[in-house]
Amino acid sequence: MKKIQSIRGMNDLLPDQSPVWQYLEQTITGLLQRYGYREIRFPVLETTDLFKRSIGEVTDIVEKEMYTFTDRNGDSITLRPEGTAGCVRACEQNSLIRDQVQRLWYMGPMFRHERPQKGRLRQFHQVGVEVFGLDGPDIDAEILLMTARLWQSLGVSDQVRLELNSLGTAENRNRYRLALVDWLRQRFDALDTDSQRRLDSNPLRILDSKHPETQTLLAEAPRLSEFLDPESRLHFQQLCSLLDSAGVQYRINERLVRGLDYYGRTVFEWLSPDALGAQSTVCAGGRYDGLVEQLGGRPTRAVGFAMGIERLILLLDAAGVVPDSVARQLDAYLVAVGDFTAHALLLGEQLRHRCPGLKLQNHCGGGGFRAQMKKADKSGASLALILGEDEVAAGALTIKFLRRDQPQQTLGFEAAVVLINQLVRSSQF
Ligand code: ATP
Ligand code: MG
Repeated sequence: MKKIQSIRGMNDLLPDQSPVWQYLEQTITGLLQRYGYREIRFPVLETTDLFKRSIGEVTDIVEKEMYTFTDRNGDSITLRPEGTAGCVRACEQNSLIRDQVQRLWYMGPMFRHERPQKGRLRQFHQVGVEVFGLDGPDIDAEILLMTARLWQSLGVSDQVRLELNSLGTAENRNRYRLALVDWLRQRFDALDTDSQRRLDSNPLRILDSKHPETQTLLAEAPRLSEFLDPESRLHFQQLCSLLDSAGVQYRINERLVRGLDYYGRTVFEWLSPDALGAQSTVCAGGRYDGLVEQLGGRPTRAVGFAMGIERLILLLDAAGVVPDSVARQLDAYLVAVGDFTAHALLLGEQLRHRCPGLKLQNHCGGGGFRAQMKKADKSGASLALILGEDEVAAGALTIKFLRRDQPQQTLGFEAAVVLINQLVRSSQF
């Protein structure tokens, strides 16, 4: 019979890979908590309208990438392609953002029907951050400082760079759109076909066209920065000077527009082209001051970002910065020679009780000493704890070092507990 396979672009996360994921997730969420951000969880499925109304009808995501179904009631529902829309919906529905500041994060799978390739999947994972109720450039700076600190604690600061832009208000963008479309229409034939199509639907997206000829043409085009109102301009200048005084380096990229309709004013991307190639953005976000109102809430300032976990994992691997300790999933493997299964299980429980933090696996399934020692070695554990006839008779335990040249020791239970605790505390196996 033909075996059933996973859906293309939707990967399994295997046990050998999960320690790195856990390390990354714990590093990120630990850092977010240190800045006073709190977790929110919301469903993977939402009504299709939520995404259409927030992300925008003529964006790539809504036009081509959503997993949309009719459920058994005949309602149109969609697997979330990103988190911001669901987060705003959840906050509104639960009255979290009426005259209140909220600093929130979430983590989980997102779904987009894209062509799978390096750094691009159909089920991928994001950590997202959304802040509601703050208007000033200080909060924009805070989330950028927070991400910069994350790169530092992951050891990838010199692998990423920051690009920034301001999109101004919706009114600024409308005026700019008219000017840009007007200018591009006169040069229609020089545009690539993708950009020609976008001229009517989503002309600002032409700015980040990958076509070299379009890019050359755009060098002469009207610039968005010339259409910014004084307040947006000031907001952006203040953000830049906050980043300057904090020593965060960035490049202003006037062509950075982001693909979602809800952004306005600040937008940014952290890129890592050397490690990631074409799918180089690891973290992207900006302000979306109009979205809450657009979804039926009161006008509420908002800013946020999302990072792609798979891309971050690629980056950590390429940079070789995952600490060795992350891969070590076991400290000790308990081998029981002879008919001591019950003893061994009990000893395991006692050790877990007395040695907090010890990662210990009991051997199960019987077998001789050599076979069990082979398993101990294969398990990756640093120690084999051996329980045989002599040990049981003496209330003792033999500790064998599997990863370093040190004679094995047979110790009484209490002495073994002291030694194991020392090893666990110092991580020196
Ligand atoms: P891209 O430029 O790769 O298409 P995007 O602009 O569509 O990204 P966002 O919607 O802003 O991306 O999502 C934020 C982050 O989520 C991206 O920077 C990236 O790290 C990650 N991401 C987005 N789409 C995918 C995907 N299909 N597979 C893996 N990661 C993704
Ligand atoms: Mg995309």
